[in-house]
This record gives sequence, structure tokens and C-alpha cells, in this order.
Amino acid sequence: MTVSHIQADAQALLEALEEEIYLHYAGLKPDLNLSSIYDRYPGLTSRQAIQTLDQVLAQESAPDPRRYQYLKAFLLSSYLGQATKHFDDRIATEEAHATIQVDDQTISYRHATIAIANEPDRERQRRIHQAQLEVVERLTPLRAESVGLSHRLAVELGYQHYTDLCMKGKGLDLYGLAERARQFLAETEDRYVAHLGRAADRYLGLRLDQLEPFDIRRMLRAPSFDEAFTADRLLGVFRDALAQLGIDLDERQAIRLDVEARARKSPRAFCVPLHIPDRIMLVIMPQNGCDDYRALFHEGGHALHFSFVSPSSPFEYAYLGDNSVTESFAFLFDHLFLDPLWLEEHVPMPKQDEFVWFTHLEELFMVRRYCAKLLYELGLHSSDRLDGQDDRYARHLSEAIHVNIPPQMYLTDLDEGFYCAEYLQAWLFQAQLRHALRARYGPRWFAAPGAGAFLRDLWSSGQQYTVWELAAQLGDTGLTTEPLIQELAERLPI
Ligand SMILES: [Zn+2]
Repeated sequence: MTVSHIQADAQALLEALEEEIYLHYAGLKPDLNLSSIYDRYPGLTSRQAIQTLDQVLAQESAPDPRRYQYLKAFLLSSYLGQATKHFDDRIATEEAHATIQVDDQTISYRHATIAIANEPDRERQRRIHQAQLEVVERLTPLRAESVGLSHRLAVELGYQHYTDLCMKGKGLDLYGLAERARQFLAETEDRYVAHLGRAADRYLGLRLDQLEPFDIRRMLRAPSFDEAFTADRLLGVFRDALAQLGIDLDERQAIRLDVEARARKSPRAFCVPLHIPDRIMLVIMPQNGCDDYRALFHEGGHALHFSFVSPSSPFEYAYLGDNSVTESFAFLFDHLFLDPLWLEEHVPMPKQDEFVWFTHLEELFMVRRYCAKLLYELGLHSSDRLDGQDDRYARHLSEAIHVNIPPQMYLTDLDEGFYCAEYLQAWLFQAQLRHALRARYGPRWFAAPGAGAFLRDLWSSGQQYTVWELAAQLGDTGLTTEPLIQELAERLPI
């Protein structure tokens, strides 16, 4: 296989996978069959393809080596994905069919978390949670085989361990990021404990030491704010927000809205780039509640980014690269719901001060959770044994979020290829980006057409540059926790 064959096949494979994902989650195709798509590209998922890229990268005269580095990262993840696909398909199928029995009711496993969030009776929440953990435990041996196989293959490919493969493949500085995660956890500890305690008392009537995992799910659901977020206004609010930035959603032919209600459609908004930049699906099923608004803005942020990528961008920059970049743009949009000035104009509500406080506490909870996930996953993926990892998981997570997290979730609460690190980098960078937008365009940057033009310029390079390089372009020295900690300190005073 030559490099140009690899490039053409990689794009074809990615687009085929994206289309399958769109059809399945939009409720247009009942089964998800990613394995059969991988099977169509045996050359791409072979060791030879990786070796071909290595040879090109070894040539000193290689033009634009970054493109080949991104392509190699994709080949590494496809190679592992191909090897573990049977486990992944079996886990997905078992999960899709698993049900749990609580009292006289049968609940599908995948809806258990939503059922807990909507269940007012705490003892029933506990029973749903317990039954959910039983399914998790049943599937753990399969997950352990899949993770173990990835770990072994990483070593076979010549890496020290899976962590090493992800760091070198994706160019991630996981240890540097872990340092920032530790610092973030330490600096926000007192603030988090004080405000979580206040929220637990206010919404659940519980003390901090009484909180259990299902209590957090119930609390974050926050039904008391639902009135401000009605399904009929959802799309209009998004359209107006873009109009203020000088972007006309209806004129953006590349973004195709799928708003039709279908029985099997995912209730949560999602974005699928079928072909970048001109065919981007933005799929929504309008429902009430702030979560749905934020999900649309998050996915809408991805859709905007993909649709503004320069048509002359090479495949590697349009489709591959540092995912922290697209996640940052998605976060920038869903974080409008944390900005009181924006809320006043777009989603007026009687309890705005309380809502802003609550969303900042949720933000702090989420970032601390991802810091803990990174620290746990670094240990997990740098070891060749899984025993004891369940306790490490429970310890890291419980210490960070101050709720006793059950060890059973240690292989279920896991994103492939250190995606947790890309989220964490995006969380830091989106705050730096907002800080820069405020400095350039004022506190109402979201209503400045100049800010829209500035973002379009950033979007046009796809994921060519990493968030570290984008931060440098803004005048910062790399990623820093400062702007994020500053925002949280302002809204969560102690
Ligand atoms: Zn996202």
C-alpha cells in the first residue's frame, strides 16, 4: 500500500463509519455494524500500513511531516480498533439488550442513568443503581479482555505501554497535563467542598458525607430550571446566538438539520461530519431542559467548526489531528449558558443568579472528575496488569468529587485513547479562548460580528494546529488552568 492509497482509504473508512453512526443513532437503521466496515479495508488496519508511514516519517525530506504523524495516529487507533472490534461489538450488543428489574418494573440498562435522574424516591434510585452495577460487573470480563489486548498490542508494536503509544501517536504531553490536573484539584478543593455541601443541602437535604453516586445524578438533572428551557424555543435560541456573531444558520447549506422525531432516534443531540466541510449532520430531538439546550450548542459548535474548514485543507487536517481543538469550539458554545450577560439576552429566567451558580458548580464537578479520570487512566494504561485498578479508580474519583464511587465502574467509565485528556485540554483552552475574545471584543463578545470572523478564521484550519499552538497564537504560553480557575472563583466565592 502506498501513502496515497492509505490516505484515500482512511478518508473512505472514516466517512463510512460516520455514515453508519448517523444512520443508527438517528433511528434510521436498527443495528450498528462497524466491524463489517473495518473489514472492507484490511490493508489500512495492517502492520504494513503503519510501517509504510514510519518509512515516510523517517525521510528527512518528508514534506509536511505533521500530516503523516496525524495519519499514523489514525492507523494506530484503527489497528487496535480492528483487533478489539469483536469485543466492542459484543459489549455494545449486550448493553443494548440488557434490562434491569427494579421492583415490578423492567428498565433498559442504557436508560438506567436517566431513570435515576428522574426518580424522586431515593431508595428506588439506590435499587436502580445497584441493578445497573450488576450488569456492569457481568460485562467487565469482556472489557478486561479488550483492554488487555490493546495493552499487549501496544508493546508488540514497540511501545513501552499503551500510555506511551497514545503519547507518541497523538503527540499528547500526558504527564504535563497530569501535573496541571493535580494543581487544579488542589487549588479548587476548598471551593468545591463548600459549594457542593451547599447544593446537597439545598436540593437534596443531605450532608456532604451522605452523598452517593445516584444523588449526584439526581441533583445535576436540576428539574427546577426546566421552565426557562422549553423545546419549542430550542432551535430559535441557537439561530439567534449565531446571528449575533454574523452567522446565518439557514444559509449554511453545509449544516443539515435533522429534527424529525423517530422512535429509535437518540434523545441527545449529536453531530456527524459525513463529508467535511460540505455535509455535516446536526441531529436533534427537541425536548425540555437545560441539558438539551447545552447539548445542541455543544454539537452545534462542532458542526460550525467542521463546516468552516477550508475546502482546500488536506484530509489529515480536516478530519484528523488534535480532537481537543474541535471539543474547545463545542465547549465555547455550550459555555454560553454560564455567562449571565448572554443568558439575560437569550434565555431570560427568574432564577438566573441561582442558575449561574449551579452551572458553575456543575462545571467544577465535571472538570475535577476529568482530572481524576486522567490520573487514574495514566496508571491503568502504564501497567500490564489490571488487578488493583478497580480500587485505584474508586480512590481517584472519590477523592476528587467527594462521593463514594464504586470500583466496579473502572473499565466502563473509560474513553478510548485518552480522550479524557483531549476533553481536559479543551476545558482549559476554551476558557483561554473566551478570555481572549473578551479582551478583544468586550464582555459581550458573543454579539460582536468581529468575534464571529475571528472564530471563522480559527475554524478554517480544521485541526491542523494543536490547542497548545492555538494558545500560543492567542499570546499565551501553552495551556494554563488560570482563566478557568478565575471564572470558577468569581462565581463560586468562598
Ligand atoms: Zn464534543
